Amino acid sequence: MPTPYAFSTRLYIDGRRTDGGSDEPVVVRNPATEETVAEVPQSSLADVRRAIAAARRAFDEGPWPRMRPAERAAVLLRLAEEVERRLPELVAVNMAEAGSVRSLAESLQTRVPLAHLRDMAERVVPSFAWERPMDPTVAPGIGISQGVLRREGFGVCALIPAYNFPFFLSMMKVIPALAAGCTAVLKPAPATPLESLLIGDFADAAGLPPGVLNIVTGDTEAGRELTTHPMVDLVSFTGSDAVGRMVHTQAADSLKKVVLELGGKSANIVRADGDLDGAVRSAFTGITTHAGQGCSLLTRTIVHESVHDEFVERLCTALAVIRVGDPADEATTMGPLISGAQRDKVEKLIRAGEEEGARLVCGGGRPAGLDRGHFVEPTLFADVDNAMTIARTEFFGPVGVVIPFRADEEAVRIANDSPYGLSGAVWSADTVAAYDMATRIRTGGVTINGGSAGVNPRSAFGGYKQSGLGREWGAFGLDEYLQTKSISWAAR
Ligand code: NAD
Repeated sequence: MPTPYAFSTRLYIDGRRTDGGSDEPVVVRNPATEETVAEVPQSSLADVRRAIAAARRAFDEGPWPRMRPAERAAVLLRLAEEVERRLPELVAVNMAEAGSVRSLAESLQTRVPLAHLRDMAERVVPSFAWERPMDPTVAPGIGISQGVLRREGFGVCALIPAYNFPFFLSMMKVIPALAAGCTAVLKPAPATPLESLLIGDFADAAGLPPGVLNIVTGDTEAGRELTTHPMVDLVSFTGSDAVGRMVHTQAADSLKKVVLELGGKSANIVRADGDLDGAVRSAFTGITTHAGQGCSLLTRTIVHESVHDEFVERLCTALAVIRVGDPADEATTMGPLISGAQRDKVEKLIRAGEEEGARLVCGGGRPAGLDRGHFVEPTLFADVDNAMTIARTEFFGPVGVVIPFRADEEAVRIANDSPYGLSGAVWSADTVAAYDMATRIRTGGVTINGGSAGVNPRSAFGGYKQSGLGREWGAFGLDEYLQTKSISWAAR
């Protein structure tokens, strides 16, 4: 199959590369040019089943789950060295398949997950309580028992990421799964499979035993198989809440453990005493980063009415200097959406905003002079009511909404009046008031005055409400991939 890349873009099953059993390839297109980047094999159902069986064998019979955690950490460090060595390649692939601008491709898309990988191997694994003594206890009328609490790998994991941060999202699952001693089948999103397939090369170079990590392609059918197959113990899914609901249901029949990282519509609260420059920068970042294709971006700004108009004016001025275009052009500061379908969805929501009476203050259309690629102008709506469709629905495009408020309680109520609960922010000179608001916002994370636990492997990432179940990153992420066993004996 045609591919301009030096690495193998074939499926990775049981430590070997294979073309799989389907004749129809997955065509990967550059979202900025709509040109074909590569064709990769589409997994057949038989391929997915072979990958699951390989992972099952590697878990039940192979050395990986039985190695000491420190030995697994050593393999992870070798993997990190390989990622580091091949970073330029990874960055180039990310720009081509995901449409990231270079600064994003070189940071959050690649070097941040590399930092998480190192942190897991160097800090989390060595300091984790893998085995700890159980204090002797008297069981009335039975006797005295004592023992050991052991943490053991959960088993075979199906890892299903979304398309927008292909390497990052895959690694946020692969890293803890491997550290825990699990085995896995990774199935990237169909639009962006290349970076995940490249992980097979890293695994080989690091000396990962065959079958521990398997990488297949495909979409709904492959995803359904991975989330229903009786040999799979745990599903870790990142994607939309609509598909997340299906995954939850699919996995229920065989009672798999499910970790869900879903969508968001995160609130950015700007009090009257907040640093307006910083708040404008954060709203700007929420709209323009990866053209708004980020789950935890702050896209719903709730601004005190006394600074609303100034905030909107400053944000529009900032958005006006964005250069939308092909990320291959170094002058570009915002790239495309992933597909025509995603652009259609975003444009439909923009029309809904206009129809419901929100005030469109900038953008709203397609940038002039770009006849190829899935581009949308950075767009802002002001004087939005939180009941409007555009305040409740995740765009996953470069669109922000601004909602005025009068009192702190109202701001918190608006922030919480959402089906989602992924992230949030508060801007205020009164850090005690800001902290109090942060404790009342029902989301998995809140930043104050621009703090960015956002990428810190020592934090925990995940959603409240319909933004998901479970946590990723660092020790909290590792915990999801472990079971706890108590081994006890009679004290003598
Ligand atoms: P999506 O839900 O369309 O697809 C996600 C994955 O699910 C893909 O790999 C897809 O092939 C697979 N899939 C589709 N149908 C399936 C089924 N029936 N069973 C199992 N798997 C199936 O999401 P997307 O368009 O790739 O990504 C965008 C969404 O992801 C947004 O809602 C965004 O907020 C969310 N997201 C969340 C996080 C997070 O960490 N919370 C991070 C990034 C993206």
